[in-house]
Amino acid sequence: MNGTLAPYAASEANSRGRRHPEPPPPYRSEYQRDRDRIVHSTAFRRLEYKTQVFVNHEGDLFRTRLTHSIEVAQIGRTIARALRLNEDLTEAIALAHDLGHTPFGHAGQDALNACMADYGGFEHNLQSLRVVDELEEKYADFPGLNLTFETREGILKHCSPENARHLGEIGQRFLERGQPSLEAQLANLADEIAYNNHDVDDGLRAGLLALEALREVTLFREHHDTVHRAHPRLAPRRTIHEVIRRMINRLVSDLIETSRARLEAAGIRHPDDVRRWPEPLMGFSSEMAELNRELKRHLRRHLYHHYRVERMTAKARRIVSELFDAFFHHPELLPDEYRLRARERERQQGAAGRARVVTDYIAGMTDRYAIAEHKRLFDPLELT
Ligand code: MG
Repeated sequence: MNGTLAPYAASEANSRGRRHPEPPPPYRSEYQRDRDRIVHSTAFRRLEYKTQVFVNHEGDLFRTRLTHSIEVAQIGRTIARALRLNEDLTEAIALAHDLGHTPFGHAGQDALNACMADYGGFEHNLQSLRVVDELEEKYADFPGLNLTFETREGILKHCSPENARHLGEIGQRFLERGQPSLEAQLANLADEIAYNNHDVDDGLRAGLLALEALREVTLFREHHDTVHRAHPRLAPRRTIHEVIRRMINRLVSDLIETSRARLEAAGIRHPDDVRRWPEPLMGFSSEMAELNRELKRHLRRHLYHHYRVERMTAKARRIVSELFDAFFHHPELLPDEYRLRARERERQQGAAGRARVVTDYIAGMTDRYAIAEHKRLFDPLELT
């Protein structure tokens, strides 16, 4: 961490601490310890084989949830340092923000949510919190990773009032319409900057996005023109990289300047002022927000709904819901550890308990593990 923190930054002095009190770490900050626990978790390693947009086996060069999370952390740290916010906390939130994602990205999450309709639903944000609070089994003295309140608060980006009521302190702000810390707000925006830009890169590389069509997007066209004017003979891939790095830089600079001005105008002096403010204080200027929306619209129409992505999405939904049905109706097919857990939870909570254990098992799968498990269950020629 460079320099001193701004008065509105999250710090150990104003932390709400951990659920299970622990002595402070001798060499690291509390948030560094959170980050390190996240990096050492099983769920973090699984991100390497989980889909962002492209399924893992489609190519070695596409973003995965792991490289995406690292890009989010990089962008987040830059912004945090520029605004003298807590860089360690920002990094911890960024690295943990997608831990609860299912295999096959949003297709997997939608399928699991549909399967769980009668049993409380499935939401990847809530699952990320479940992973760090309960599902990671690593430490002798507590379940989960026992992270600080601030890291957990940043992980839980959104939450229905219904779910918030069951979550205690961490769900409170969704009932009171409060804001999370600035570090949480900025990690959320860094996520958006990262995926919009890397999806342009991956979409072009995969041949699903066309350069000509992308030039209808103002943000892209402006930077593409600038790069092309300065380097007319630059190879296409290098041109794209130059354009994307400039777009990221523009978004990040706008976010830093706009947020700094808003914090000053609002007279924010303490992290509690941030939480009580009626709206998020971190954000883009209205001009940049509109340019960003235009880029997102383009990606939605041309990439996320491209027929090749839709085909993979349809397959992914089928795999996830067939896995769920098989395990839910025949828990004897579950590996021992999950079968025992399903029986235990069913005793306490009925069918909803069994459904939740099946969901935890499926949500934890990587893309390729889900595909292999599906084959083992449904392909008679496959070894079990
Ligand atoms: Mg993300």
